[in-house]
Amino acid sequence: MASHGHGELGRGNRRVVVNFRKEYFEIPWANLRAMVEPSFAERSLVNHRDYLPNGWLVISSVININKSQVLTAEGRLVPYDYLVIATGHNDPMPKTRSERLNHYKQENQKIKSANSILIVGGGPTGVELAGEIAVDFPDKKVTLVHSGSRLLEFIGPKASNKALEWLKSKGVEVKLDQSVDLDCVSDETKTFQTSSGEVIKADCHFLCIGRPVASTWLKDTILEENLDQHGRLMVDEFFRVRGRQNIFAIGDITDIRELKQGYLAQKHALLLAKNLKLLMSGGKESKMTPYEVKSIKAIVSLGRRDAVAQFPLTTVIGGVPGLIKSRDLFVGKIRKQMGLNPHIVQALASPLVWFLSFQRGRQEFSHGTYDDTQAITLICFPQWGGMFCGPSSDLTSYDGAGYSLLE
Ligand SMILES: Cc1cc2nc3c(=O)[nH]c(=O)nc-3n(C[C@H](O)[C@H](O)[C@H](O)COP(=O)(O)OP(=O)(O)OC[C@H]3O[C@@H](n4cnc5c(N)ncnc54)[C@H](O)[C@@H]3O)c2cc1C
Repeated sequence: MASHGHGELGRGNRRVVVNFRKEYFEIPWANLRAMVEPSFAERSLVNHRDYLPNGWLVISSVININKSQVLTAEGRLVPYDYLVIATGHNDPMPKTRSERLNHYKQENQKIKSANSILIVGGGPTGVELAGEIAVDFPDKKVTLVHSGSRLLEFIGPKASNKALEWLKSKGVEVKLDQSVDLDCVSDETKTFQTSSGEVIKADCHFLCIGRPVASTWLKDTILEENLDQHGRLMVDEFFRVRGRQNIFAIGDITDIRELKQGYLAQKHALLLAKNLKLLMSGGKESKMTPYEVKSIKAIVSLGRRDAVAQFPLTTVIGGVPGLIKSRDLFVGKIRKQMGLNPHIVQALASPLVWFLSFQRGRQEFSHGTYDDTQAITLICFPQWGGMFCGPSSDLTSYDGAGYSLLE
């Protein structure tokens, strides 16, 4: 996770630069709770500055890379010695936390004012959203349409069946092996056509059809050849992009053969931070720790109390896995890992954190430590990891307005 990467790498004589597309960190699986309870997002959306008070943040998308620099959408050049790409899945979101909070209020209003709701897609997002609405708004008619033959196809059929039975028991109508004609989707007409010719009436709808990997931007870069057919970056057991010396990738963007999960992305970040620390302190590559793929573990929440979980030896549903995930969706735990209060809204703490970090920054600057530090550029650090690089001796080109790819 970003805070781990920063904490591990930020100590000592290193500079960490973090580049994000938006101003805040968001816990992805808390989104669906925030749609039924917008105030939940007060804890699950955290401004990057609040947990990275001393990081050098650049809020802008990275649009190009060469062997020693990256280019942001605003024309900034950021030099690197080590680069870590962790752009995960594409999910266009507002740039500021307050815009995102407003978005949740609007989504919540949409749910509240509808009598019938159509959910398109029966993966984890669709199933979790159906569960949230069915539990918090039991009087709404919820229909879930999924093109596959079973829900939650990313895990085993036992988990799918259990989730299906649970949804049905809450009154959700599930239609499998059908897809909704997305070209004719409109909340105006309130009718939706499925591939089997059925017409579904619903006051509003939510598309939960999965997000593409955020790698389109890499196709015009030096990493074009390093993408597999699904657009994932091909990496070795040290997360090094194959054939590249100082470019790494972690999280959902990688071609590692495992479920794409946040807790695994976090493991990637921690291990890579350890290995980079070794490299940057002059350690031998042969001493790096390789990543090992472990067995599958997945928990899909079903409303506020229940969940369906697939563990290596068993699949369970109900209150026990619900206790692990569904009550707080790991939000308190993650906030704690980021060094934040698990309970209170960070907005209250922000001015203090900002003031302290400003004071510290001023001190460091006036003592000249900024000029002495080497640059570790942490770029596109995502929800979990990011893209970190360093140490760089060339800070002069950082603010360069122009950009030319020098290979
Ligand atoms: C409904 C749902 C439930 C889930 N439940 C769980 C769960 O219970 N447990 C679990 O472990 N995992 C869960 N996951 C999976 C988990 O969310 C992902 O595996 C995890 O978020 C992947 O992290 P990542 O850092 O690789 O990418 P992402 O979380 O996708 O983050 C990528 C970041 O990079 C930024 N970015 C993208 N392109 C650029 C660019 N060009 N420049 C700068 N920034 C860029 C994006 O804005 C984003 O912030 C769930 C996912 C969903 C959708």
